[in-house]
Amino acid sequence: MIGTKVQKGVEGLRLEGLRKRFGEVEVLRGVSLEVRKGEFFTLLGPSGCGKTTLLRLVGGFEVPDAGRVLLSGRDITGLPAHLRPVNTVFQNYALFPHLTVYENVAFGLRSRRFPEGEVRARVEYALGLLRLESLVHRYPHQLSGGQKQRVALARALVNEPEVLLLDEPMSALDAKLRAEVQVELRNLQRRLGATFILVTHDQEEAMAVSDRIGVMEAGTLLQVGTPEEVYERPRTRFVAEFLGVANLIPARRKDGGVETPYGLFPLRPPWEEGLLALRPERVEVHLEPVPGSSPAQVRQVVYRGAYLEAFLDPPLRVRTPLRLAPGQEVHVRLPVEGLVILDE
Ligand code: ATP
Repeated sequence: MIGTKVQKGVEGLRLEGLRKRFGEVEVLRGVSLEVRKGEFFTLLGPSGCGKTTLLRLVGGFEVPDAGRVLLSGRDITGLPAHLRPVNTVFQNYALFPHLTVYENVAFGLRSRRFPEGEVRARVEYALGLLRLESLVHRYPHQLSGGQKQRVALARALVNEPEVLLLDEPMSALDAKLRAEVQVELRNLQRRLGATFILVTHDQEEAMAVSDRIGVMEAGTLLQVGTPEEVYERPRTRFVAEFLGVANLIPARRKDGGVETPYGLFPLRPPWEEGLLALRPERVEVHLEPVPGSSPAQVRQVVYRGAYLEAFLDPPLRVRTPLRLAPGQEVHVRLPVEGLVILDE
């Protein structure tokens, strides 16, 4: 069809060079990103890095100083929030206190003057999806945190948004409930095939639910990848450390490879002197020397239940099922495929 040709790759959401400044502070410094249709994408970063501001630009609650927001190839940068096929679930749920669960979920459809029959069908579907049928007559103050959270989700989902934005929706839940809601959210997103964009500072949450993660720091998007990519192949020290415990091993170029306190490795970094990252669980710990191992001393041991965490000298953090004791000598092999060259 003429005029409706959709370019490859513009089906989802596309952010181009987004900049936003509040007074003196440049909160977003040129963020570009593509989120695919039907993808569960998470913006992960510490407090104040700009992830909520980025979400608000997508939702239409803020206007960028520069850059564009495109949805399915259409420029929606200046479109007001209520005209976008985008819904947001806020951190505080923002339920109407004087309305029942049913009325809260129906509210948006009724204000858009949907026929009552369709309102009922859509609301019942959403309530069923989120297992809220038995709570329809309750008011928000009669609900637990997790139940309120589910009502807020149902209220967003009845509108069948193309894109659902989730701003730390699980931060008010305790750890056990949060884990349950994460699984629910993930299953829900798969069943609906909708695009979900979640904002969180919790790296475990990000890894549990996402197809891809974008790691942010100080208004810039540092790295985008699958949970496995950002965890296993962090590009910078910040990403390596933000996504869990990482060993940062000093290295310098030597004889066509790099030299570290744990031996020589056939790597070719772009720098003369820098850091290699290695996850503690990747380190092999042996009681006797093995080919390629080097000796180390156990400085401190922490019992973690499923495994033992040991701090070695030269400095290295490891996880092992071995029963180690401080002062003991061990032999350590760093698998070269687990060593990640970090940018300067
Ligand atoms: P958090 O997880 O704490 O919400 P965040 O990564 O979501 O952090 P933002 O909420 O986007 O970060 O805020 C980024 C920076 O912009 C912060 O320093 C914040 O104080 C500032 N900021 C956000 N909104 C405004 C505003 N309307 N006016 C002035 N400054 C703002």
